[in-house]
Amino acid sequence: MKVLKFGGTSVGSAKAFQLVAKIVQQQKEDVCVVVSAMGGVTNLLIQAGEQAKNKDEKYVDTFLLIKQKHIDAINALFAWENRTAILSEIIVRLNEINSFLEGIYLLGDLSEKSLARLSSFGELLSSYILSEYLKIAYNKDVSLLDATALIKVEGNYLGAKLNQNLSYKNIKKAIKTGVHIMPGFICSNEANEICTLGRGGSDYTAAIIAAACSAKVLEIWTDVSGMYTTNPKLVSSAFPIKHISYQEAMELSHFGAKVIYPPTIQPVLDLKIPILIKNTFDASGAFTEISHKVNNQSVVSGISHIEGIALLTLEGAGMVGVPGFSMRLFKTLAEQKINVIFITQASSEHSICFGILQEETAKAQKSIEEEFAYELSLGKINPLILENDLAIVALVGDNMKNHQGISGKMFNTLGKNNINIRAIAQGASERNISTVIHKKHISKALNVLHEAFFEDHRTQLNVFVIGVGNVGAKLLNQFEQQKEYLSKSMHLNLNVVGLANSKTMFFDEESINLTNWEKLLKQGKDFDVKRFLSEIKKRNLPNSIVVDNTASEQISDAYALFLKESIALITCNKIACSSSLHNYQYLKTLARKYNAPFLYETNVGAGLPIINTLQNLIASGDKIIEIQAVLSGSLNFIFNNYNATTSFAQIVEEAGKQGYTEPDPRIDLSGVDVMRKILILARESGASIEMDDIKSVSFLPEKALKSKSVADFMQTLQEDEVYFKNLYTKAVNKNAQLKVVAKYTEKGAQLALEEILPENPFYNLKGKDNMVLFYTERYKEQPLVIKGAGAGADVTASGIFADIIKLANQ
Ligand code: ADP
Ligand code: ASP
Ligand code: MG
Repeated sequence: MKVLKFGGTSVGSAKAFQLVAKIVQQQKEDVCVVVSAMGGVTNLLIQAGEQAKNKDEKYVDTFLLIKQKHIDAINALFAWENRTAILSEIIVRLNEINSFLEGIYLLGDLSEKSLARLSSFGELLSSYILSEYLKIAYNKDVSLLDATALIKVEGNYLGAKLNQNLSYKNIKKAIKTGVHIMPGFICSNEANEICTLGRGGSDYTAAIIAAACSAKVLEIWTDVSGMYTTNPKLVSSAFPIKHISYQEAMELSHFGAKVIYPPTIQPVLDLKIPILIKNTFDASGAFTEISHKVNNQSVVSGISHIEGIALLTLEGAGMVGVPGFSMRLFKTLAEQKINVIFITQASSEHSICFGILQEETAKAQKSIEEEFAYELSLGKINPLILENDLAIVALVGDNMKNHQGISGKMFNTLGKNNINIRAIAQGASERNISTVIHKKHISKALNVLHEAFFEDHRTQLNVFVIGVGNVGAKLLNQFEQQKEYLSKSMHLNLNVVGLANSKTMFFDEESINLTNWEKLLKQGKDFDVKRFLSEIKKRNLPNSIVVDNTASEQISDAYALFLKESIALITCNKIACSSSLHNYQYLKTLARKYNAPFLYETNVGAGLPIINTLQNLIASGDKIIEIQAVLSGSLNFIFNNYNATTSFAQIVEEAGKQGYTEPDPRIDLSGVDVMRKILILARESGASIEMDDIKSVSFLPEKALKSKSVADFMQTLQEDEVYFKNLYTKAVNKNAQLKVVAKYTEKGAQLALEEILPENPFYNLKGKDNMVLFYTERYKEQPLVIKGAGAGADVTASGIFADIIKLANQ
């Protein structure tokens, strides 16, 4: 004998009824089939009842919706020659509902007793339709059982307590061989009044039948392929758990895994009847087996959550060491039938904090204030603290007790993603670790925890790119090229979620199509850095990274805002790190405080690993004695190519065209760009130094320094060609090369145009190459040398890319 239960979606439409009938037809042994109401019908019945009670005539529309749903199903399922008889039976029931609702409307009253009766109609209708369909379509001999006569309860009308002995006796008597159909959820009390087993209670009906008949197996058929590692509607990478113990399933369902109603497990657990959770819409697909076998595959079996939680905290000096305090608290709550989902108490006993369903807060508050009125009036305890809009997220697993570090990993994962934990509890069985968080973080929390505990360390990076000029465009290009490699070889999903230029911004959570980004960006909204930030916040995605590819001060002024939201920041824009020392230190402090990586390798030497190397030297205890560096790819390009045949001005123009200079070449030629770089290196070496402290000997003639615009500047260069020619010939005569060299020692930083002789390591620097020599305590005689292309969009983009990978590996 098998018991099969089909949930609301499994009988939600004519098509679904047909699938159910097919599954029943294929069974080779005696079966009892328990059905829920058609999907959504119980909700509609309750809604109509509430409306009628509140004298809201919309209850009629709600009733018509219920009616139509059933009539549509019947019309689609039965040929006209059978339809009339079935419809007339259904109409009798529907009329009953209608009169019942009219009664509620007239009285303006909906007692629990009436609500139980009203909500029972859904299952009565669906079970009748299924039994008729099986008879007619498959010529099956089926008996439709009366659940209210068999399942007997005591007490409450909604969610009553089972009279096990009587119910089991009735069921055993009623169930013989063949196919039985039975409505789930409904039952009756001693006075033969209709009651329910609580919302979602059809699962429980099925478990009661299975236990009463000592069934071989209990199959719960639903709209998903088993119990998943977490709610599959919220985490797309969740997958069905093959095997799980009764205790784990119970824990997961108690903490919100709605796929099985928590009381279902107890009746079958004692008899060791396995429960299979299967998908009506994919009958031969994956499924979950719940049994007494302990799962020894994974440490964490599943993650579940409950929404709509309120946290109540009672605290006060008067609570310390007073026995019976918690007993009084929980007794009052129990008397009010308030279910306490979560409890934590500080070891000082100074405060006790517990979680309940939000809709019960008013009732809870009132009863606590009455119970502790005396203590409250004396100030022995403080007024109750209430926090709403929370959720519980729980990790569940039999094996967690044998493993260290699970809670650490859980809190670390949540913390890294800027999810604040309000409270923590671990079940005494160590089968459950629960955290309370704000409800806005549910989806993010489930996704990052699932990633941390179930996914093959696949990391998802959500990148927001500001600036799509030379460097930005190359970066997007490189992303597109490497996407597959990153995914396959590094298990890294790199999603570009946001893009902006100075005019517009565009977002797509599913990852922007990088073959078409120009067009998409054009259609975007107006750009503003604060709005860009709020778009990022709104999405609240894990591992969010902002990349700044601009040279804009407006953007770098907003860095603090990003870091304060725990958004990682990667930039090739030098302005922030070369601004005031105070701002530079402030940003670094924010990055530490908010756990938001702030990486700017490309601020010096484009893609060359200069800053990284320097930071590693310092971190490992080395000390910088001197830095000598040729740091301007643009100046190098200019002085390496200038040989007094083509004019200096023309060479500068050419460098600009090739993207080696800043858009305003004065920033390079005045030495400001190199000053910023040596300033950053000095600061990274530990110096408290400002831009004004750097000595810079300009090589430009007076006129050029005073120029008001780029055009004006270029004009003066042209006019001063003789001056540049002189510099050049003087150097050539000494067999020297011209290079702008920056230096830093403990005494300070400086830069100047130098004549470099052949024995100098800088002599052979070609093209736009950069070179840095670090003299340190460990590299005293022979410096640590870093050399290579130090300018250009491609290498800068790859430096940014390297920062992204570095961040992913953290
Ligand atoms: P039925 O109507 O068949 O009783 P329910 O809606 O009660 O179905 O339960 C199935 C739903 O439970 C799924 O559609 C899914 O959204 C939800 N659910 C929540 N957590 C889980 C989980 N861990 N595994 C599977 N489903 C889950
Ligand atoms: N129809 C009932 C409900 O929606 C029982 C069930 O589906 O399990 O709560
Ligand atoms: Mg259910």
